[in-house]
Amino acid sequence: MKTGPPHVAMLATPGMGHLIPLAELAKRLASRHGATATLITFASTASATQRALLASLPPSVASRPLPPVDLSDLPRDAAIETLMSEECARSLPALTRILSELRETTRLVAFVADQFGMDSFDAARDAGVSTRCLFMPMNLHALSLVLRLPDLAASVAGEFRDLAEPVRLPGCVPVPGSDIPSPLQDRSNPSYMVMVHLAKRYREADAILVNSFDAVEPEVAQVLRQPEPGRPPVYPIGPLIRQSGAIPPSSPRAACLEWLDRQPARSVIFVSFGSAGALPKEQMHQLALGLELSGQRFLWVVRSPSDEGTLSDNYYNNAESNKDPLAYLPEGFLERTKDVGLLVPSWAPQTQVLAHTATGGFLTHCGWNSTLESLVHGVPMLAWPLFAEQRLNAVMLAEGAGAAIRLPERKDKETIASVVRELMVGEGKGAMVRVKVAQLHRAAAEGLREGGAATTALDEVVDKWEAEAN
Ligand code: UDP
Repeated sequence: MKTGPPHVAMLATPGMGHLIPLAELAKRLASRHGATATLITFASTASATQRALLASLPPSVASRPLPPVDLSDLPRDAAIETLMSEECARSLPALTRILSELRETTRLVAFVADQFGMDSFDAARDAGVSTRCLFMPMNLHALSLVLRLPDLAASVAGEFRDLAEPVRLPGCVPVPGSDIPSPLQDRSNPSYMVMVHLAKRYREADAILVNSFDAVEPEVAQVLRQPEPGRPPVYPIGPLIRQSGAIPPSSPRAACLEWLDRQPARSVIFVSFGSAGALPKEQMHQLALGLELSGQRFLWVVRSPSDEGTLSDNYYNNAESNKDPLAYLPEGFLERTKDVGLLVPSWAPQTQVLAHTATGGFLTHCGWNSTLESLVHGVPMLAWPLFAEQRLNAVMLAEGAGAAIRLPERKDKETIASVVRELMVGEGKGAMVRVKVAQLHRAAAEGLREGGAATTALDEVVDKWEAEAN
């Protein structure tokens, strides 16, 4: 039997929203359990942002890119879910080779893939890795939905968005059909069957590790903590977020942080739509005018409008190729708001912004990593979901956790201004959300302490890996 530290191989499907939390899991396994890890990534995502993240990993966490595979036969407008799942399926031989090599050279105790990499379990099996786990960088509501998806696909006739009644899942906030994740909204799109296929394979996992915590979705956490025949055990191990201090001290401090230093405490609303989100031109104008009208200070990560490119282009290169997004703003906006607002093209050091004392609110697309980062730093949210499972997250946050105000469907400048003011300084809903977020901020930290729920859950997982490997 091999000696040395336990080693965990991890597969991150494309997207910073998958890579960031898996890297954090690897770091936690290293710091708490003395493990080493290899993060395996796909060739299609090699943006400068991703390269910087991989370069910042500690020596205990290695990274290995898979060789490129040809996806040119897929339609240009193929959904991201289809692209990711297909790239994974076509990379299996190379992945099997990497895993076999890791088995030779390390004490490999487990293989962990995220939710779009389920076919990689075949490579792990072929390489002789017997413990195969799923890591969900989403929440327990999303997990519940996907676990039920094969049944729902068979029992719901027509499209989810046409359902008269919300979808009810045990322990979950009822989800209106129109808020069911976007790849499931069109049965004729191949991404629908991709999701059903992945969902069926979730049940093959030895364990499902979820980047969420009980306080934010207590009832469903209670349901999923109970063992259920035919369903892998579920471990809420979150919130795992990129630490705001993870940037090397030698790097220059971002200009937007210096700008925040000059703003009063809790006075700035941070506006960002994740690693790929962008708004249509008209909506971008209304947002700009709404922020101006609100009279609040703002820091906005601006992207070129979504009508100028495809979502998958943004998704795969973190909008780095965007031409000057500031050119799309309303006439005179920059000049009129220069004393209260700052615009950052494409990418900002988000966790550092959320950790800054000047940040008092977050207008977010409700990506799950962004949501967790906001909760960990106690920043109340305005929910403006765009795609994937973001609408589901918005329902859960606004109706369940009470940690966000959701913007109405019609987002004109007056509405935007009024909800921004309510979140930042309002005495009604805004005040309630601010109190709730402060509670969740404390609960998130408690779970990760010694003896906390997240720490105990991960300890249990690692103990099982060790027991199975011996
Ligand atoms: N992010 C960042 N700077 C940006 C935009 C995004 O650091 O300008 C990070 C953000 O902190 C989060 C991740 O990218 O960790 C986005 O993940 P999320 O799940 O919120 O959304 P997705 O990008 O998957 O839609």
